[in-house]
Amino acid sequence: MKYTSTRDKTLSILPSQAIIQGISKDGGLFVPKTIPKIDNLMELTEMDYRQLAYLIMSKFFTDLEPSLLREAINEAYGEKFSHREIVNLVKVKDRYILELFHGPTYAFKDMALSILPHLLRIALKTNNVNKEVVILTATSGDTGKAALEGFADVEGIKIAVFFPEKGVSQIQKLQMITQEGENTFVVGIEGNFDDAQTGVKTIFNDIKFKEIMDKHGYILSSANSINVGRLIPQIVYYFYGYLNLLKQGEIGEGEKINIVVPTGNFGNILAAYYGKMMGLPVNRLICASNENNVLSDFFNRGVYDRRRELILTSSPSMDILISSNLERLLFYILNEDDGAVKDKMEGLSKNGFYRIENINLEDFYGDYSREEEVTNTIKDVFNHDGYLMDPHTAVAYSVYDKYRLRTKDDTKTIIAATASPFKFGKKVADSIGLNTYEKDEFQILKELEDRTGIKVPEGIASLREKKVKHNNYCRKEDMKKILCKFLKVGEAFD
Ligand SMILES: *Cc1c(COP(=O)(O)O)cnc(C)c1O
Repeated sequence: MKYTSTRDKTLSILPSQAIIQGISKDGGLFVPKTIPKIDNLMELTEMDYRQLAYLIMSKFFTDLEPSLLREAINEAYGEKFSHREIVNLVKVKDRYILELFHGPTYAFKDMALSILPHLLRIALKTNNVNKEVVILTATSGDTGKAALEGFADVEGIKIAVFFPEKGVSQIQKLQMITQEGENTFVVGIEGNFDDAQTGVKTIFNDIKFKEIMDKHGYILSSANSINVGRLIPQIVYYFYGYLNLLKQGEIGEGEKINIVVPTGNFGNILAAYYGKMMGLPVNRLICASNENNVLSDFFNRGVYDRRRELILTSSPSMDILISSNLERLLFYILNEDDGAVKDKMEGLSKNGFYRIENINLEDFYGDYSREEEVTNTIKDVFNHDGYLMDPHTAVAYSVYDKYRLRTKDDTKTIIAATASPFKFGKKVADSIGLNTYEKDEFQILKELEDRTGIKVPEGIASLREKKVKHNNYCRKEDMKKILCKFLKVGEAFD
């Protein structure tokens, strides 16, 4: 299996190289040259998560030593997850909630970031790279912590995380700034997630900077969802969820399902789309946005337009106007025309928008929910069905409610649940009617626990006692400078 770039199809590299590089030199994203198929789903229903993960990942990461890949999977999807089956499928009314937040940092990012460090380690070994790797990560809240957790104290790797100082929840911020590990570095930046992400991309595309890094024995890589080492592991749970339904007899062989995904950078739902291309019986992929509804506009009008103010919502991990992974979908819907993808992406960067014409987007349905709908959804589902959702999951649930009303489509449906409600305790508590006025975050969590009977996860409760290890703040223009300080690289930059 080889990978190519969405912006230059003449490129051809090995999976391990795609993992190390993160993003292509031409600015494009790596995509596998062929899509492997998985059939005979009926025969796979007895597999546990690890076995299924190996089946899928080994098809995409063909140059990683099989025994090492297997070991990595066993290590990543083991005791660090609080749920024995790694993910959990819960039926609420007639829908199936696929809980992806039982990993060490309580968000779905753990599904991929618990294995990415292992994949990177093996990839480096495969390519005999002896340099120290610097992982650069922009985060809207959850990626940062999950990456820090995965990479902390991994030998030969340093990790720097940039988060929007005002754009994350209190718990998300605490999780990051209390991170231990000599090789970790966390910086709050002035600006929003798009600023952080653009800043990181600019660093990646700065050839002069890369040369200086090289001179100091560093190579740069990314833990963001543009890395195929994150994308591919995310395909696994969609198959797992489907097989689970099949095994329980909730669906019949070959029966199609809908999948609803609360979406920001378009990584999670893209993995579901890959699943569909690989043969997973999917009817519709329902892309749920919050008030930053660029994607729902795109699916409804064929225009991607980021020329609007970013709105800070209660689902901060979806407060994004530039959904990087959409570039991969473009590549497929434009019939793998790399030149056309390049045009669109350059248009986006220059003019702030692009339009696609006469394209069939039937596989997708896009809509969004407003803050008030999110609040009501958390409240109603808790009151009527006893199920407690975080705001991101509630966006998906609410969009699905509207989809049902509008389309009357009663295809069985999986809704991806992407974070523990305790990561966004204040919003959740407010929504179900608890009084949070002038109470501190931990008091609120305790009351939420008392009211719902669901225990505050240990890793969140313990944040209260943790020491702050990172107290860095910079303007988005200064990201390179502060990174150099961390790496003890002396050169000055303009
Ligand atoms: C990252 C994240 C999302 C959005 O996922 P994308 O892959 O960026 O679309 C949704 N919910 C939560 C809780 C997240 O952390």
